[in-house]
Amino acid sequence: MRLLNILTLVCFFSVASQAQETHRFFDTQNKILFTGVAVSRTLDMHSTWQARRQGLQEAYLSNELVDNKKKFTGFSYGMAGASIALSYAFHKKGWHKAERILSYVHIGTVGYTAGHNYYLSYWQ
Ligand SMILES: [Zn+2]
Repeated sequence: MRLLNILTLVCFFSVASQAQETHRFFDTQNKILFTGVAVSRTLDMHSTWQARRQGLQEAYLSNELVDNKKKFTGFSYGMAGASIALSYAFHKKGWHKAERILSYVHIGTVGYTAGHNYYLSYWQ
C-alpha cells in the first residue's frame, strides 16, 4: 500500500508540473468531482458505522473517534473541505491537472475503503 501511495505522489507531482490552460475553479468538472468527494466521505462514514455495529474494529482511526458521530462527521467533512482547499491552492498555482487528480484519488481511496467496509459488514 505504501508503494502505491508513493507511485501516486510521483505521478501526481510529475503531472502537476506541466503547464495547463486555465478555467473557472467551480466549473462543471470540479462541481462533479467535489460532489463525488462528499458522497464518498458520506458512504465511508455510513459503512464504518455499519461495520462497527457488526463488532468490527476501525483499522485507520481510533474506535473512540468513529463511534462519536459528531466527531467522525466533523473529521470526514473536514477532510473533504481540506481536499477542496488543496485543489483550490493547486488551481491558483496553475496546476489544473493536479487539482483534478487530487479529487480522483480522494474519491478512489475513500470509495475503496467504503466498499471494503460494506464487504466486511455484509459478506464476511
Ligand atoms: Zn484549475
